[in-house]
Amino acid sequence: MEHNGAILAQRTSGDVQGNDLRKAGLKVTTPRVKILEILENDADRHLSAEDIYRKLVDLREDIGLATVYRVLTQFEAAGLVTRHHFADGMAVFELSAGPHHDHILCMDCGNVEEFVEPQIEERQRAVAERLGFEISDHALVIYGHCRRANCPHRKPSSA
Ligand SMILES: [Zn+2]
Ligand SMILES: [Zn+2]
Repeated sequence: MEHNGAILAQRTSGDVQGNDLRKAGLKVTTPRVKILEILENDADRHLSAEDIYRKLVDLREDIGLATVYRVLTQFEAAGLVTRHHFADGMAVFELSAGPHHDHILCMDCGNVEEFVEPQIEERQRAVAERLGFEISDHALVIYGHCRRANCPHRKPSSA
């Protein structure tokens, strides 16, 4: 209802990124294709502009950080990605397509995980109804400190 899975569903087909760009009304350019490719295929679904820039450097793509910011802003305006401001000065981007989920964030390492809790979703609907609202969207972020002994995201210095 709040999102659709059309883009995620076609991840594996050949010219996926080009199609997604055209559907969003954006011209197909190399920086746009490469950045969308990273957003669609990286194991981490929540990436900062700097994360994406570092991955482009690893791929030996000659795309500057300013271009990454500009393209992400264009993607956001076109509805392709959602920008989250999870903590002070930390913006991360994820594809807008896909099912609704909420987020929990580690304040030590910045790792973001997703969850869906049907009872929370249901209570939110009940609250909105009681207050006379029809929900168009909502965002729930839990901030905390990861307590797992073997957290793979923990930085060596903070272990
Ligand atoms: Zn939710
Ligand atoms: Zn997410």
